[in-house]
Amino acid sequence: MDVPFLDLAAGYNELQAEIESAVLRSLRSGQYIGGSEVEAFEEAFARYVRAAHCVGVASGLDALRLALLAMDIGPGDEVIVPSHTYIATWLAVSMCGATPVPVEPLNLTFNIDPSKIESALTTRTRAIIPVHLYGQPADLESILAIARQHGLRVLEDGAQAHGSRYRGRRIGSHGDAVAWSFYPGKNLGALGDAGAVTTQDEAIARRLRLLRNYGSQAKYINDIKGVNSRLDPVQAAALSVKLKYLDAWNARRAACADGYAAALQGLPLTLPACPASAEPVWHLYVVRTAVRNDLQRALAAKGIGTLVHYPIPPHRQAAYADAGRSVGSLPIAERMADEVLSLPMGPQLSPEQQYWVIDALRDFFKEA
Ligand SMILES: *Cc1c(COP(=O)(O)O)cnc(C)c1O
Repeated sequence: MDVPFLDLAAGYNELQAEIESAVLRSLRSGQYIGGSEVEAFEEAFARYVRAAHCVGVASGLDALRLALLAMDIGPGDEVIVPSHTYIATWLAVSMCGATPVPVEPLNLTFNIDPSKIESALTTRTRAIIPVHLYGQPADLESILAIARQHGLRVLEDGAQAHGSRYRGRRIGSHGDAVAWSFYPGKNLGALGDAGAVTTQDEAIARRLRLLRNYGSQAKYINDIKGVNSRLDPVQAAALSVKLKYLDAWNARRAACADGYAAALQGLPLTLPACPASAEPVWHLYVVRTAVRNDLQRALAAKGIGTLVHYPIPPHRQAAYADAGRSVGSLPIAERMADEVLSLPMGPQLSPEQQYWVIDALRDFFKEA
């Protein structure tokens, strides 16, 4: 049996008729930039996350970058980022001319360790970007308290956390803004690149609307120096359909996670842990083991697709060689990069496929 890491075509097939009719409607509308499809999705997504404003943009990276620009963060500023995250979190800071300052994660949750933030602050620190990694909300209460005390902005990276809840309230309006990615593999995924920012702050929303559209509100009148980063109406049409199924699909992911948790306890694997404050949406199901590479090879031999999120931490990438962070400088993130393995996970993972994965894991540790 083949078990792909994630079967995007199966997800598409499930909603094919509805998605294709929405996409056709958009194609036939004659409106190819902005317009009612984009506005309808922005409204629906804002309502879903209970935020006052949603501004669609072209990608998750742009959502982060433009949100930082809207907060007036730029050259000379420092922004706290997790050492263990996808590199986009860091790149958005760098692209604004600011400096990403990494803080190590908690071993238990993979998310930024709030107790290590204060020692990383300087007079230049302007913001904190907690990432709700793998679909599990970070410890927002502690992070927001630190931010309040030091006058810092909080921009949440929600790229992996559509629909997750922190202390009972959906991610989307806890911090100053939340950056979202609708990359196809995310819990709410488009048919290409797409992103958005949600915020309670009307000034940030207004700035974002200018920034994404050449700094312009009225055609050929440019108030600020903006970029071209707009949410495509075809993508918005598809996203409006998929948003209706997000909770149901997240519930199926949760059932898969429960299945793994019940079947894998007892194996010499560290399973994901979840604080009571967080209701995760299982973007990824990440286990830890010192024999990660052997395990990944053994699973691949049985047709099981797995991925490593992420094999090289941002500070060890050539892209950040200029930051001069040597091996061992962020040991928790480095060890995670060596030990984490993401098992097949998704709304379309069948029970038979999951049994196959579980059997293969049991066999591996029996033989080991
Ligand atoms: C996917 C992702 C991004 C970037 O989103 P894109 O839409 O691919 O630009 C940013 N941060 C995290 C944590 C992500 O997983």
